[in-house]
Amino acid sequence: MKQIYKKKNSFLELSHKNNISPNFALDKIDKIDISNSRKFNDNQKKIFLTVKEELKKGNASEFSLTSNILDELNITDEEDWAKYLIHRYRYEVYPDKKILDDFPPYLQIEPSSICNYRCVFCFETDKTFTNKKNGFMGTMKSELFRDIIDDAKNNIEFISLASRGEPLVNPEFEKMIGYTEGKFLNLKINTNASLLNEKKCHSILSSGVKTLVFSADAAEEKLYSKLRVNGKLHKVLKNIEQFNHIKEKDYKNKKIITRVSGVKYSDEQDFKKMESFWKNLVNQVAFVDYNPWENIYVKEPNNLKTPCSDLWRRMFIWWDGKINPCDTDYKSNLKIRDYDGSISEAWKSEVYNNLRIAHLNQNRSNVKPCQSCNVI
Ligand code: SF4
Repeated sequence: MKQIYKKKNSFLELSHKNNISPNFALDKIDKIDISNSRKFNDNQKKIFLTVKEELKKGNASEFSLTSNILDELNITDEEDWAKYLIHRYRYEVYPDKKILDDFPPYLQIEPSSICNYRCVFCFETDKTFTNKKNGFMGTMKSELFRDIIDDAKNNIEFISLASRGEPLVNPEFEKMIGYTEGKFLNLKINTNASLLNEKKCHSILSSGVKTLVFSADAAEEKLYSKLRVNGKLHKVLKNIEQFNHIKEKDYKNKKIITRVSGVKYSDEQDFKKMESFWKNLVNQVAFVDYNPWENIYVKEPNNLKTPCSDLWRRMFIWWDGKINPCDTDYKSNLKIRDYDGSISEAWKSEVYNNLRIAHLNQNRSNVKPCQSCNVI
C-alpha cells in the first residue's frame, strides 16, 4: 500500500497536560469582537468571523480546537486570541482550499544545515548532502536572520527555527534568538537537546520562543542511540532537566510549551512507554509519522496526483538565504530564489506559482523530486 504523508497538524499520537477546556475556550472566543478594531484589516476580520462560524459547527467544521490549539491558546494572552486564531486558520485551512495571500501561513528559518547527529531516518545520512565540498552545509549569519525576522514580524505569526540541521549548532544562536523577543505569537524551535547548555537555556527562556520541541523517539538508551545515531539519551535527559530547573528558578512566569516529538519509524517504539517516560519532563509527548525523506532523489515515481499542501502552507529560508518550498527536497532542486528582502514577493513569485500550477494540473509526476514524494 502506498504511504501518504499529510503534514497538516501531523501528530500521529499526542498526549498533553495543562490544557484549557474546549468549552471554556469556545465561550471566550464567542465573546471576542474585532469588527471595530483598527488592529485588523478587512480580510482578517472576515477570517475571524469564519473561525467563529466554523467553531459553532462542531464535528462538521473545517476548523476545530485541537488539543494542540488549546495548549497554544493557553499560553497566549487573551487579547491576542483573535490574531492567533486568524493565523492558525490560515495555516490549517488555506492549504486545503488552495488559498494564497501575501505571506506564507508558516515560515521555517534554518539556523544551521549542519547536525551533530546522524538519525537513521534523516537526510543527514546522505553523504552527498553532508560532504562540505558540495556546498549544502553551513550556518546562518545573524544579519540575515535579523532581516528575515523584521520582514516576517506582523505578517507571519507561525515561525519555526529549524529545518535540515540542528539549530543549536549555530555559533550565533543566542544573538539570533534574543532578537525574536516579543515578536511572534507562535515561534518554535526543534532541537535534539544535546547542545542545550545553561547559557542556551537562558537565551531560549528570555526570547520569543513559545514552543520548544525536543526530538527524541525512544524511552531507553539502546533504542535511542540506534535511531538517533551519535546521540546519548542520558545526556539529553540531563539537559532537559537542567532546562526545567532554570525555568522553574528564574522564569517562573514564562509561558512556553515543551514537547518531546519522535518519528514513528520502527515497531520497537512504543508510544505508551514514550509517554510514561517523558510526561513528567515536558508538557506534550508526540509521535509524528515517518516520511522517507532520506532517499527522495533515488525513489521511483509514485504516480500521486494530489497537489502537495505544503505549497500553500509553508516556506523555507535556509542558512544561506536560499528559499525552498519544502525540506523533503533537501538539495533544493525546487529552489524558488535567494532571499532578497521580501518574503511576500518570493511567496507570490512566478517560479513558486508555476510549481503550484503543475501540482494543480496533476503534473507533479513531471517535477523532481515531487514525483517520488508522498506529501499531499
Ligand atoms: S518534494 Fe514536492 S511534493 Fe514533496 S513536499 Fe516538496 S513540494 Fe511537496
